[in-house]
Amino acid sequence: MSTTTSPRADLHTHTALCKHASGTPEEYLAAAQKAGLVYWGVSDHFPAPAGYDAEFRMAPGDLPRYFDILDSLRDVADGSGLQVLAAVEFDYVPDRMDEVSAALDPLRPIFDYLIGSVHYVGDFAFDDPDKLAEWPRYGVDAVWDGYLTDLKAFVELGGFNVLAHSDLPKKFGFRPSDCENVVRRMADIYECAAAKGIRLELNTAGLRVAADEIYPSPELLRAAFRAGMKITLGSDAHKPEHVAYAFDRAAELARSIGWTTHTAFVRGEAVELPL
Ligand SMILES: [Zn+2]
Ligand SMILES: [Zn+2]
Repeated sequence: MSTTTSPRADLHTHTALCKHASGTPEEYLAAAQKAGLVYWGVSDHFPAPAGYDAEFRMAPGDLPRYFDILDSLRDVADGSGLQVLAAVEFDYVPDRMDEVSAALDPLRPIFDYLIGSVHYVGDFAFDDPDKLAEWPRYGVDAVWDGYLTDLKAFVELGGFNVLAHSDLPKKFGFRPSDCENVVRRMADIYECAAAKGIRLELNTAGLRVAADEIYPSPELLRAAFRAGMKITLGSDAHKPEHVAYAFDRAAELARSIGWTTHTAFVRGEAVELPL
């Protein structure tokens, strides 16, 4: 956690409703205030399509509870200099995006912004520590290839504001054998994202896992900058103490690439904050 004088926004945090995060909403709020954030986005895993990844996200019936939590956090934070933002992180699920849209579209007016992610290739939850032993069966290059194919399709489809942890398959240290090809394919994805106003997330969770590097890598960040993408900062906190994790380091990295601002979204409108 960093205490900072810069006006910072953490747009990627979770709640215990997703069954793999700990801490109470009040503890996350206290951490956000202690970190000196001006915007704190709560962006838990969205429960759609039905049955998808059910052990790692809230049940659809938990959504009213989620909105109650957000409302009470807003009430408590009101006037404190910290604005609580309502969001969800939703997944690209090939062939089932109609179901995702049916569940998500009616709720869009409630959210300040939406985060888009890919956590699966086929039926393989490649970022799940309990599935680590399955990597050899799927193959590192095949996972990267499938991931990039789905990420591209997701960005082409659009409908979200923030592209999360865009090189997530590196989480456990599995790097592609042809890095140049991955950078080329990702640059193409970033150009498409930039044209839609989608922000690139600098996600500091990568510093807490074997990858030991912010998502995405410096090389990919340079490609995103060349593509004209703007950025957000996200801790991907699944514990209160991870709110705004290593944000000084993320801001320094972003500045070294050339960015001067990062974005918060309030009711869908981008607010640029100095880095
Ligand atoms: Zn999670
Ligand atoms: Zn994620």
